[in-house]
Order: sequence, then structure tokens, then C-alpha cells
Amino acid sequence: MIGVREVYGKLLNELGYQEWWPAETDFEMMIGAILTQNTNWKNVEKAFVNLEGVLEPEKIQDMELEELAQRIRPSGFFNQKAIKIKAFVAWFEMYDFNVDEVKKQPMERLRAELLAINGIGPETADCMLAYAFDKPILVIDAYTRRVFGRVGYEVPKKYDDFRQMLEAHMPNELQVLQEFHALIVMHCKNHCLKTPICQGCPLENDCLKIGVESI
Ligand code: SF4
Repeated sequence: MIGVREVYGKLLNELGYQEWWPAETDFEMMIGAILTQNTNWKNVEKAFVNLEGVLEPEKIQDMELEELAQRIRPSGFFNQKAIKIKAFVAWFEMYDFNVDEVKKQPMERLRAELLAINGIGPETADCMLAYAFDKPILVIDAYTRRVFGRVGYEVPKKYDDFRQMLEAHMPNELQVLQEFHALIVMHCKNHCLKTPICQGCPLENDCLKIGVESI
């Protein structure tokens, strides 16, 4: 079966460096990580258009919950997401809205703090850790499960079990782990869709296509 590093190498070879996250500021990245829950990126972009000029922690903190919810409406689940963003911003205030202060904290402590915020699960927390706070951690999502399941891995159900299983085969380097997640997402958008386009896929020669025949 194809190795984890080999998957990374083949995807990198095919797609090149992605240099994620697609955001102009760290704060935009963090809010994007919440907005993208249960929706696609196009809807997140529409919500960002409505947040133009107010995408700063102080302004979001001062904004009425109802106004925030209406502005992020295109991202779906807007009432819950507005509550989550408010809770997140309240946490960020403990660091004086200063990303550099957050970065000084050890990863495990930060991860525990993020996971304690209402509505922040492991995927959202790890996105922030990897792409805003420069902590070397691999983000796991449905795409990661899909690709590794199809190529032939027995994918652990628990998020952290799967994350640690993959990380054990990768160098503990921020850029590599950032790229790996981005490459998997791009690969699933190009080839490993729900109904995959296997022709021309860089993993085709190694893939067992588990579950694909039944799609
Ligand atoms: S060969 Fe098909 S199923 Fe396997 S990783 Fe590529 S696109 Fe996905």
C-alpha cells in the first residue's frame, strides 16, 4: 500500500505548493475557519464581502450579535456561527487580540483552550493552529478520510487517532503539514470527488479504490 509520505510527495509533485490559507490577515483566517464549517468556500467568500471594513476583532466584538449574524448569512448556520465567532473573539481578547502573543503559547495549551470554546471542534481548532498560530499540526477533514480510505487505509474513526497516525509518518514541520492538508483538499476538488475522476489522478497506480465501485 502507498505510504503516507508517498501520498504527500505525489500530490506535491502534481499540484505544487499551495501556500495556504487563502486569507489576507490572520484574523480573517481565523474567522474563515469558523465560517467554512458545513459549507463551501464560495459561500464563505460571500460572507466576507459583507464583512468588508469590519473584519477586525474590536469591531466584531462591538457589533450586535444580530448584525453579525445577518452579515455572515451567506455562510449558512449564521445564527450559530455568529455565537461561535463572538465566543472566539472573547477568547482572543485574553491575548489582547495579538496573534504574536498567542503564538508564544505551547501548542497543547492553545489547542485545549480553542477546543473549550463553544462551537470550535478539532478541525477548526487545528486549522487555526496550523495556519494562524504557526503550530505544526495536520488538519484532518472529510477529504482526508476519503482519500486515505480509498487508497486502502483503515481510517480510525476518532479524529485525533487518525491525525496522529498520519503525523507519525510525516516530519514535524509546519510548512509540510500545512501543505499536506491543502494538497489533499485540492486533490479532492480536482480528482477524488464524491464520484472520482480517476483518470490522470497522481495516485491512480497505487490506489485500491476502496468503495469507489459501489458509488
Ligand atoms: S485513483 Fe480515484 S479513488 Fe483513488 S485517489 Fe485517485 S481519484 Fe481518488
